[in-house]
Amino acid sequence: MFQDSPRRAHSIAAQGGINAAKNYQNDGDSVFRLFYDTVKGGDYRAREANVHRLAEVSNAIIDQCVAQGVPFAREYGGLLSNRSFGGTQVQRTFYAAGQTGQQLLLGAYSALERQVALGNVTMYSRHEMLDIVKIDDKARGIIARDLVSGQLERHFGHAVLLCTGGYGNVFYLSTNAMGSNVTAAWKAHKKGAYFGNPCFTQIHPTCIPVSGDHQSKLTLMSESLRNDGRIWVPKQKNENRKAVDIPEAERDYYLERRYPAFGNLVPRDVASRAAKERCEEGFGVGTTRMAVCLDFKDAIIRYGRIEAGKQGLEKADELAIIKMGKAVIEEKYGNLFEMYEKITGENPYEMPMRIYPAVHYTMGGLWVDYELQTTVKGLYCLGEANFSDHGANRLGASALMQGLADGYFVIPYTLGNYLADDIRTASISTTHPAFEETEKGSS
Ligand SMILES: Cc1cc2nc3c(=O)[nH]c(=O)nc-3n(C[C@H](O)[C@H](O)[C@H](O)COP(=O)(O)OP(=O)(O)OC[C@H]3O[C@@H](n4cnc5c(N)ncnc54)[C@H](O)[C@@H]3O)c2cc1C
Repeated sequence: MFQDSPRRAHSIAAQGGINAAKNYQNDGDSVFRLFYDTVKGGDYRAREANVHRLAEVSNAIIDQCVAQGVPFAREYGGLLSNRSFGGTQVQRTFYAAGQTGQQLLLGAYSALERQVALGNVTMYSRHEMLDIVKIDDKARGIIARDLVSGQLERHFGHAVLLCTGGYGNVFYLSTNAMGSNVTAAWKAHKKGAYFGNPCFTQIHPTCIPVSGDHQSKLTLMSESLRNDGRIWVPKQKNENRKAVDIPEAERDYYLERRYPAFGNLVPRDVASRAAKERCEEGFGVGTTRMAVCLDFKDAIIRYGRIEAGKQGLEKADELAIIKMGKAVIEEKYGNLFEMYEKITGENPYEMPMRIYPAVHYTMGGLWVDYELQTTVKGLYCLGEANFSDHGANRLGASALMQGLADGYFVIPYTLGNYLADDIRTASISTTHPAFEETEKGSS
């Protein structure tokens, strides 16, 4: 990896959560339902066998992460908590406040460090992979650059696994880290690994809108906010009043109006297209008019009333209810609200957030078979870097599920199938001409 620690991988940015078919909420979830939702969310383009495998191992991922010490959010009684994500009608998303990716990464990192200490793994941080070395049509190693000394290095492996993330940065502005730059997958492609669905890009509906030409990236506001936030635009075109000054009767909650069964939790592509359409029709808000409102006012009052009820405060006045409601919202989404306020200078507890769709997740990538092997023998690809066998996935909380399924529960079994045929192949020296030649091409 090129960061100074694996903890800095782009996965740290994942906020909302990770899906699993545990059915903890007893709301009718099952392995089949997660499979079905994912195939449907993938516009029926997914490879169904892979999706079924994904749904099957989803529950084991949660158990694995809990065993690693990942602090998933819990209910008052101690059970793991869930929230909803778009495109589903059950609550199956496990989360750790608004920093699920970071906590999953820390869990994986702690387990990795243990293996490093045992001498089973050698870590090469601040190294960039420059090319794949092929010998007799099989991937047998890589050429890397030590980013501190600038030296080129040769590394042999019986197989090579790429876990190098997505390519959101082929778009000028995206919510991806600038490191998601596709260099590794591109080099693999040049060595014969085919791409699958390279144009499938997920557009996320709730990002902070572009504010000027000084930006190099965009910031995501987690989809979890659509659990409680209501999306609306003014009913009148080219509205100039502040969002809080627009009365209820003059607001168009267009997702709830158009899609009553899913409301604000429609799949990401539906929510993104609808926001773009409303803005292009002239209903957008803010100075650029390329934004819609995400409003927590009703949720604050709803939660406030519940709190007042819990505390037996039947005569609580509106101010007290709002205060209690804000505390609940802060507990659920506090870090996201803080991030929004830092970036926009507006307080989302008082004023609806302004949001707009942005490039978020690349569903295309290196094509892999059921065993996660690319079209180059011995070259495997995991996580966002592969073509996401769940297809044109329009759902959230599936990327972390797929990445962890690939790493924890698929590759440990499938790689053995390949290595079994190579059991008598001794290590190949990095003085082999193939290494020399590939290195020359990289310098
Ligand atoms: C803002 C944001 C929020 C998200 N929230 C969620 C969410 O709530 N739930 C969800 O399921 N998904 C979410 N996603 C998607 C999810 O985070 C990613 O798909 C996933 O984390 C990708 O993990 P990965 O391990 O495949 O890649 P990464 O985490 O990107 O890791 C790639 C690694 O490869 C290394 N690398 C890359 N190229 C090279 C090279 N040439 N040489 C050496 N090393 C290299 C990098 O250093 C890095 O360590 C979110 C994405 C974004 C942008």
